[in-house]
Amino acid sequence: MRGMARVTVEKPYRGATPDPAEATREAMRVAKTGRLPLVEVFYSLQGEGLRTGQATVFARLAGCNLACDFCDTDFRVQETYAPEGLVEEIERVGGPCRWVCFTGGEPTLHDLQSVCDALHIRGYRIQMETNGTRPRPGWGVDHITVSPKQPQGGRLHPWYERHAAEFKYVVDGEDDLRRALDGAAHGRPTFVQPNALNPAAMSLCIGAVQAHPDRLRLSLQTHKFLHIR
Ligand code: SF4
Repeated sequence: MRGMARVTVEKPYRGATPDPAEATREAMRVAKTGRLPLVEVFYSLQGEGLRTGQATVFARLAGCNLACDFCDTDFRVQETYAPEGLVEEIERVGGPCRWVCFTGGEPTLHDLQSVCDALHIRGYRIQMETNGTRPRPGWGVDHITVSPKQPQGGRLHPWYERHAAEFKYVVDGEDDLRRALDGAAHGRPTFVQPNALNPAAMSLCIGAVQAHPDRLRLSLQTHKFLHIR
């Protein structure tokens, strides 16, 4: 074996963003101009986790610090807003709705402090969906949903162990279930959510919830069943 090169075989990237690194560079280029890079702003129902079924305006920020193989979001920049323009768009799109969810991509890549302040003054409650690698304590987010991505290189920052409202683990295999059970030790509601690209993941998740009824719950992407965004 002497002299033989060690070859690492990586899973091919199958996520929804054609070039995640370039998409993120572009998002950061926009951010440097003082504008916010968005994929979309839309009004729907929260489909996952504790807030399932609640009307919510979603503001999807562009760019992500990870590139997960199973990512179902194309996080390329589609539109840009000044911070005050984003607040106006959220009000326009959602009408009477007073829940907004910042998602991505990874929303913590961007500075949403002034947007969060303005929304709170207007009576909004704010949810953020994050991979949990970058804390943003100053924003005063009301409901933090952390979807840890350790196998994809996303080290969970300890701040989230104390401040997450819920943890949500995308499950592909047994290793993910073990991580979810570790995550449940933080004492927060902990969901397992089957990877939509893996038909075997659903029964794994159901079995895990049945085996650990006090520690795990099932989260389904109900918006996909309803054919809404
Ligand atoms: S952390 Fe989320 S948005 Fe980023 S690549 Fe992974 S699944 Fe996609």
